[in-house]
Amino acid sequence: MEDRKNIVLTPQDPYLLSGKNGASELRVCKAGVKGCKNALVDVKALAERLIEELNNSGIEDNIISASEGPVKKHQFFVMAVAGCPNCCPQPQIKDFGLSGQAEPIKGETECIECMKCVEVCEEEGAVKIIDGAPVFDMELCVKCGKCAKACPTGSILIKKEGVRVMAGGMIGRHPQLAYTLSELSAKEEAFNIFQLCAGFFKTGKVKKKKMGAVINSLGIDRVLERVRVLTKVVK
Ligand code: SF4
Ligand code: SF4
Ligand code: SF4
Repeated sequence: MEDRKNIVLTPQDPYLLSGKNGASELRVCKAGVKGCKNALVDVKALAERLIEELNNSGIEDNIISASEGPVKKHQFFVMAVAGCPNCCPQPQIKDFGLSGQAEPIKGETECIECMKCVEVCEEEGAVKIIDGAPVFDMELCVKCGKCAKACPTGSILIKKEGVRVMAGGMIGRHPQLAYTLSELSAKEEAFNIFQLCAGFFKTGKVKKKKMGAVINSLGIDRVLERVRVLTKVVK
């Protein structure tokens, strides 16, 4: 990663970034350093912006002031940015995470029934050819966009690209996967949600200062409602 301003890069690990006060970590996937053919978003740009948002959020100061003595690794605010739903840097177990998404849709051009879309899709049954046209099961589809890339005729297109916003994943004594707060979000929407989470984090009255514990104490329904209101207002 070049042109870094507030980013401290661990020299031994180009995939790991930190906020300015050293009480946070952001892991990027390969797409943010060397590039990856599966990437659906600009991982480097998202990671740099997320560090900027973190530096402006007051999260690290909050962690430092709540800590008795030096901040230990398990107290860090941890984040991840992944270029696609493969989620290599594991945003599902971080305080906050983003991953690229691309939602497929049937195109107007004629399907030649080559079955390439079905072959590349890793989710059994997510795309089928029925009566000579692609049909998607969006409960199974993870929005990786591979079927659209593989289709030689343009019979599958990408309806929308964006990021999945996740928060509250954690491991340790009470492991849990992150909640999905929004899907197919535009960049600005994702960072507005980040600042909303930062507000929850700083005011959260929980023993263990982790995003997951904060969301659990508020209740995920209440958090999702605040996300809905925020994204509606900002749009
Ligand atoms: S998360 Fe996706 S884009 Fe990033 S390295 Fe893994 S496969 Fe590539
Ligand atoms: S977007 Fe990915 S998961 Fe969804 S149907 Fe296409 S290949 Fe399968
Ligand atoms: S949708 Fe495209 S890739 Fe799938 S069978 Fe039809 S032509 Fe082939």
